[in-house]
Amino acid sequence: MRLLVLFGLIILCLSGTSAAESGPSTAKSVAHTWGGKARHLVVAVIDGPRWSETWGASGQPDIPHQARELAPLGSRYDHFRNTGWTYTNCGHTAITTGFYEQIENAGNQLPARPSVFQFFRQATGLPAESTWVITSKDKLLILGNTSDPTWKDRLQPSLDCGVPARGPFGGYRDDRLTVAAAKAVLTAHHPALLLINFKEPDAAGHAKNWPGYLQGIRDTDGYVAELWQHIQADPELKDRTDLFITNDHGRHLDGHGDGYISHGDDCEGCRQISLLAVGPDIAVGQVFQDVRTQVDLGVTIAHLAGVTLPGSPGHLLTEMLVTVPSETEKK
Ligand SMILES: [Zn+2]
Ligand SMILES: [Zn+2]
Repeated sequence: MRLLVLFGLIILCLSGTSAAESGPSTAKSVAHTWGGKARHLVVAVIDGPRWSETWGASGQPDIPHQARELAPLGSRYDHFRNTGWTYTNCGHTAITTGFYEQIENAGNQLPARPSVFQFFRQATGLPAESTWVITSKDKLLILGNTSDPTWKDRLQPSLDCGVPARGPFGGYRDDRLTVAAAKAVLTAHHPALLLINFKEPDAAGHAKNWPGYLQGIRDTDGYVAELWQHIQADPELKDRTDLFITNDHGRHLDGHGDGYISHGDDCEGCRQISLLAVGPDIAVGQVFQDVRTQVDLGVTIAHLAGVTLPGSPGHLLTEMLVTVPSETEKK
């Protein structure tokens, strides 16, 4: 017994923590090991396109950059889904925390669980500039924090959401400004984790503007290609960055409710979304028929970042990864 206590004390001394400090800490206690080859993970969330106007459209006329430039370089899924609540804050929270949660959608509720950004900063001891949330929608600042009392207000990512000059909840900004902000951050900080949200085509859809909705799909297709080109032009980021392009939710099918204008229920149009991934950890030129979800993406991003999302029901997207961990490495 005494030996055990002594052994325990030695472990505590070696790890540099005490039992009272079992929560998150900025102290770097262990060497950090990445899950893959990439040292930078970028997630671009295009808000609310329908499958029928993106990958489901014959010849994919409105996503030419993703379909013809990026898809041949990486992997994509024909059956990627939001299986939680099909609105913005839930879809994004599922990716960043690995849990579907019926979270309030105006930004008045923080995710119940800590995010991959916080776990990464805890594991690495890196400062806030190592992780970023850059969004056109101001309300997505919720992704930077959690209501979990152990993690709340701690180890948060850097935030640039909506119109920061007007303060929190300063309104939505144009996606062109968001992509410019993301490029500037990529160059200045070479972040390990970066999530970008584009408000289109969701905003034009809600405005009942069909041409604007299609233009939003074309514009965001151009922005993700710009991001990829920006990454390739930076010697630190090139060949060391995985880019994930996905959606938070779809929209109602035609003939269901008000069709493309709204979303939020269980219809197939709201559920079916897309995932395209490119980078050193991603298989080249693959199209998968596996049914996968946003919490699976969350778990996979965490894995590549060298952390886990404890208790998440998500499964690693092993089919698209170049290197799959052995059973003993999976946690
Ligand atoms: Zn919406
Ligand atoms: Zn629907």
